[in-house]
Amino acid sequence: YNHLSAADPTIAKLMKGEEHRQITGLELIASENYVSPAIMEAMGSVLNNRYSEGYPGRRYYGGQEFTDQIEQIAIDRAKALFRCEHANVQPHAGAPANIATYLALAEPGSTILGMELAHGGHLTHGHPVTHVAKIYNFVRYRMSDVETGRIDYDEMREVARREKPKILLAGFSAYPRELDYKVMREIATEVGAWAVADVAHIAGLIVGKQLANPFDAGFDVVLTTTHKSLRGPRGGMILSREASTGKLIDKSVFPSFQGGPIMQMVAAKAVAFQEAARPEFVDYAAQIIANAKTLAATLMERGARLITNGTDNHLMLVDSVSSWALSGGVAEKRLDEVGITLNKNMIPDEPRSAMDPSGVRMGTPALTTRGMKEAEMAQVADLIHRTLSAKDDNVLPGIREEVIGLAKRFPVPGISLPAGDS
Ligand code: PLP
Repeated sequence: YNHLSAADPTIAKLMKGEEHRQITGLELIASENYVSPAIMEAMGSVLNNRYSEGYPGRRYYGGQEFTDQIEQIAIDRAKALFRCEHANVQPHAGAPANIATYLALAEPGSTILGMELAHGGHLTHGHPVTHVAKIYNFVRYRMSDVETGRIDYDEMREVARREKPKILLAGFSAYPRELDYKVMREIATEVGAWAVADVAHIAGLIVGKQLANPFDAGFDVVLTTTHKSLRGPRGGMILSREASTGKLIDKSVFPSFQGGPIMQMVAAKAVAFQEAARPEFVDYAAQIIANAKTLAATLMERGARLITNGTDNHLMLVDSVSSWALSGGVAEKRLDEVGITLNKNMIPDEPRSAMDPSGVRMGTPALTTRGMKEAEMAQVADLIHRTLSAKDDNVLPGIREEVIGLAKRFPVPGISLPAGDS
């Protein structure tokens, strides 16, 4: 950080601290990942200096000969990856992509059917604290059986028939199983709803050919973040099966909702889409799931209780109260002390509060990017179990050393510790 260190040593030092934390720690936050140095370069570039309101060929500012091409390439690559007719790559993040989609497809006051937060849904799917919950009438579906992870599709159909939603929303941030898009498409068709999937968490697993693509079941819109398993820059995008739906989405994103696109992120999205189209990305996606299955199985061997008893994707939800008699908040803090990062999370029918719930969520996209495989996942599970079952805090420094040793064997793409640093 030559320029930054000279101009603002305080921020430079904190950023160095974060680099050190990433290199010497084990990242299990299910929504995080490490981008390639190429994506990093696109993000920190002269494209930041541009205003490009509008879409390629239809801008409100001059000088767009390069930005137009960059955005068009991002769009074309996104469409090819997800096999659909239209892509809008401008949403600044996942939440704006959700809101722009709702506003494109449903009049304020209409009903949207989404997944209950404590059963794995996301805040943006209509939790009462959100602004969108004041604009729309959200109703929710749930898991009928937290052991098997089965969503009750019969109940979903019944609720849809009764409530007549304008949008049927598939997608989650803490559900470890595959969704039945075919049944959801059928329900949406029966009640005249748009079928929309928010695949923020699993986009990388879909384009990496490990999980189903909702478009194959006839979904109308698929929206996603680009920074989770897809391993791109922070941002969002909205894909439409048909170009006519895409027109509604484009208008909703700009001018109705956002201003100018963040062009360096659009360029970085294009680079990420190219990376995700390579054959190696299929291997990466398969390894994410293999790693998650090993992590889950080893934790269960040690006596941990996992919601749905395992995982089919990149994440798992562990009931930390039943497993180690620790709330999610306490477990998260304790693991922070040894350099293992994850997040506290509500479990289905949560008996405690959202601020200190009964579970923790963990996922494998980031560690898989560092090159870890099944053997390391078994080791990580063991480190977690030992940290959370320790009766005496004196063992934590020893575990921290083991974490550093393991982490350092698997470099973070594009960053390394200065010589002599440990
Ligand atoms: N949708 C889902 C399913 C998510 O998991 C998330 C983020 O965790 C979002 C939307 C929101 O994305 P962002 O944090 O980029 O606004």
